[in-house]
Amino acid sequence: MGPPDRKLEKMAGILAETAIGAAAIGLLAGGCAYAALWPGSQIFGRTLIAPRLDLGKPGELALTFDDGPNPAWTPRLLELLDQYGVKATFFLVGKYASEQSVLTRFIANNGHAIGNHSWSHPNLALTAPAKVREELRNTKDALEQIIGKPVRHFRPPFGARRPDVLRAARELGMTPVLWNAMTSDWNEPSPERIAANLSGKIDRLTRRGFAANIVLHDGGHQEPKANREASITAAGRLLERYAGTHRFVTVGEWG
Ligand SMILES: [Zn+2]
Repeated sequence: MGPPDRKLEKMAGILAETAIGAAAIGLLAGGCAYAALWPGSQIFGRTLIAPRLDLGKPGELALTFDDGPNPAWTPRLLELLDQYGVKATFFLVGKYASEQSVLTRFIANNGHAIGNHSWSHPNLALTAPAKVREELRNTKDALEQIIGKPVRHFRPPFGARRPDVLRAARELGMTPVLWNAMTSDWNEPSPERIAANLSGKIDRLTRRGFAANIVLHDGGHQEPKANREASITAAGRLLERYAGTHRFVTVGEWG
């Protein structure tokens, strides 16, 4: 995610908020933009978002962090997660991970899940198919070499995708993952506002019987040491608020 594609993000966010059925939105918004950008769209292929909760079971939350690793902020986030004994999912940018291999290994060794967020964070819906495969494969290879474990999840930058992007991920053994709870945390200086926006979405999802797949950013795809104090403080607020009522999971528990 990030500033240049804020329009796309905003559109994706607005569509994600809408409860109208998929087909209706496809007609309203123009099928292609909808299918390529709406986090919940399955038209371009199945993606993992969050499951329906079993009746009577507590709510489930997956905290996912994109665009890292960020040497300035990821270590602080890891400490915070440790305080709550919570495991999260980190969708790493391949070129940053290869530059920060010690930090990348540290994230994995702390029990967190590592996902592929492409090598250089392009909009893959506008990228040539051969280049898409290269972005995904180079990242997967680099991550697996660093952490010594298979990487099974992929999140497209900006949520932007085409059928061949999802197919390329699956051919590499990765499940494409989107989200259902996001706010513009990369552009919002107030942790309270970030946490309040996300809590509203989480509570709504829980009431409707769905788990929440929450996106926050510990990194910045244009600035490897982006200041993410607000996002990480907001993550702390969510941990505090939901520690007693919800179960925190990694996306690997869902598929
Ligand atoms: Zn991103």
